[in-house]
Amino acid sequence: MNAYKLLTPGPLTTTSTVKEEMLLDRCTWDDEYKSITQKIRSQLLKIAGADSEEYTAVLMQGSGTFAVESVMTSAVSKEDKLLIVTNGAYGERIVHMAKYIDLDYSEHRVSYDKQPEEAALRALLEEDPTITHIAMVHCETTTGILNPLEMVAGLSREYGKTLIIDAMSSFGGIEIDVAGLGIDYLISSANKCIQGVPGFGFVIAKLERLKACQGIARSLSLDLYDQWKGMDKDGKWRFTSPTHVVAAFAKAIDELIEEGGVSARNARYSGNNRILRSKLAEMGIEAYISEDKQSPIITTFLFPNSSFDFAEFYEYVKQRGYVIYPGKLTDADTFRIGNIGEIYRQDIEQLCSIISDYMGGTEQ
Ligand SMILES: *Cc1c(COP(=O)(O)O)cnc(C)c1O
Repeated sequence: MNAYKLLTPGPLTTTSTVKEEMLLDRCTWDDEYKSITQKIRSQLLKIAGADSEEYTAVLMQGSGTFAVESVMTSAVSKEDKLLIVTNGAYGERIVHMAKYIDLDYSEHRVSYDKQPEEAALRALLEEDPTITHIAMVHCETTTGILNPLEMVAGLSREYGKTLIIDAMSSFGGIEIDVAGLGIDYLISSANKCIQGVPGFGFVIAKLERLKACQGIARSLSLDLYDQWKGMDKDGKWRFTSPTHVVAAFAKAIDELIEEGGVSARNARYSGNNRILRSKLAEMGIEAYISEDKQSPIITTFLFPNSSFDFAEFYEYVKQRGYVIYPGKLTDADTFRIGNIGEIYRQDIEQLCSIISDYMGGTEQ
């Protein structure tokens, strides 16, 4: 297999130093290993701007979806009602979970290229006082749209709801003041903007809320409360922990801090994204999401013309060292390019020149 860089929203391109951490087999019962878990948990709180009096970080085996589902099954009880705001596939995945778990929920569906509006959400909260929880995706990776976290968090505080944010593809790449915004559960995973490898997700949870979740979960392996109780004692995971992934993640956090923290990483990602959008626009490849709503994470582009062949384009770009992503929309022909991970301005410029060559070649 030829090496290529991933321009995808995770798993993404990681540093060789992060990968090297996985060359050692570690013992889950060993104190040194358990202290890695504890260190990660406290560093995640710092990144979230949360302190350990008020918040805790719980790591959960599996991909990001497992962590989202662990919150849904552990934090929303049979007596609660969940309002799910959706404008993409990941919001819809929460709806899908709600059906599986048999939650009482309502969905506020917004079109994929639009952000939810305050007036509409306020009206829903006024109309239905039985709503206890609100769930929303921060960066909808389906399109790359950034949702208005401050507005929704403000409403949630005003109406006294429990707020669950899927910040899978934004945490670590966009500054989020979890405590300041009053987010109750924020979910992300190892293989997105922290730039680790896949294998676990994590939840930054408000202690006051989490403490009230004993016995709610309808799943043993996804019981967030139990996972927290076990892990909080001494850093021991309840069941086999993804030791290699945990070690790589610890290194990835160190590298995030060395880079200058989330603000520096955000500046790099934002720079990548600006160059990408503007250079592709010059070639007649337009983004699906308008610039004011665009996240610095991933961009959806419309096919430039009706004869555009994605499979051929994908191969052309892959052979030249970069892998991109297909689109995820049903109403428009699109493809996606992520700009997170160990990706720099030179990579984006290189990619744009590959795309320019391709476009030049197909126009004749
Ligand atoms: C990546 C991602 C997830 C989790 O996806 P997995 O494939 O389970 O890791 C959930 N929500 C969003 C917004 C994501 O970008």
